[in-house]
Amino acid sequence: SKARGRNQVTFFDPQLQFALNQRNDILRELIHATDKQELILYYQPIYNQQKAIVGTEALIRWNNSQLGMVPPDQFIPVAEQANHILVIGNWVLHTACQQLQQWASDKQRAHWTIAVNISAKQLQQKDFVDIVTTALTQYQVPPQRLKLEITESMLQEDVDNTIAAMSKLREIGVRFSLDDFGTGYSSLSYLTKLPIDTLKIDRSFVDNMINSKEDTAVVKAILSLAASLKLEVVAEGVETAEQMAFLISAGCQHYQGYLLSKPLPIEQLLLLDS
Ligand code: C2E
Ligand code: CA
Ligand code: CA
Ligand code: CA
Repeated sequence: SKARGRNQVTFFDPQLQFALNQRNDILRELIHATDKQELILYYQPIYNQQKAIVGTEALIRWNNSQLGMVPPDQFIPVAEQANHILVIGNWVLHTACQQLQQWASDKQRAHWTIAVNISAKQLQQKDFVDIVTTALTQYQVPPQRLKLEITESMLQEDVDNTIAAMSKLREIGVRFSLDDFGTGYSSLSYLTKLPIDTLKIDRSFVDNMINSKEDTAVVKAILSLAASLKLEVVAEGVETAEQMAFLISAGCQHYQGYLLSKPLPIEQLLLLDS
């Protein structure tokens, strides 16, 4: 009964057990996801002020027969802990480069970039530069078409080697975006040392910007910082016309969010006006 349950001393936390089981289920299935072709890349378009698509962000989806559609927030962290992110990350990189190769002969889309999310373990691989250049070469992709999205939190360990690898890739033309910008803890002076091209304003600021003076100030500060450092800015998570209008008036150049388009499977992306 309820009363007895309450009096029992229990070392069993059902919530925790559920989380552990789920983690094990996810990992057991995830190991086979690439072989079983259960991974899919969706593409969310990124627009400029003229409402033209300048590129897309590749966002992974996993459709498993047992677990259904598992969102990346649930399986990417599991993959990261198990080092399996290296396999998945490589699949993402190759799939994105293959897509860029297809667009190369498509006049409407030959200039589009694809931004790929990179995890810390991928970036810290000793042969990361080779891994990226191999994919670019295999699909004959101009390096300028590929963007790599990293976060500030990835730049805490092994910083010198990480920056050296990024600089090598940037020399050949690969570009870098700092994702979820504003949510990390790094000092701003750090920004000048990073070989990056773009700041992506985190969705949380865009979300609160209209109602919060503080978040308005943060967005404006990011835009002016970016302008003085000659960095591009992409606003993430733009959901309303009001947010869009504010961002345009504040001088933001690039936009991504549900107002413009959700992440789409490739067939649907190709139906959009470019
Ligand atoms: P992220 O890189 O910050 O990606 C943006 C997330 O915001 C995506 O969630 C996207 O669908 C969502 N989003 C875009 N516009 C809007 C909007 O207007 N409103 C709201 N509420 N959300 C919006 P998603 O696809 O679920 O991905 C979640 C996270 O999973 C990503 O966050 C990224 O950190 C990670 N992820 C996704 N794909 C990959 C991948 O291929 N590799 C790695 N390492 N991580 C990935
Ligand atoms: Ca991202
Ligand atoms: Ca982001
Ligand atoms: Ca995020």
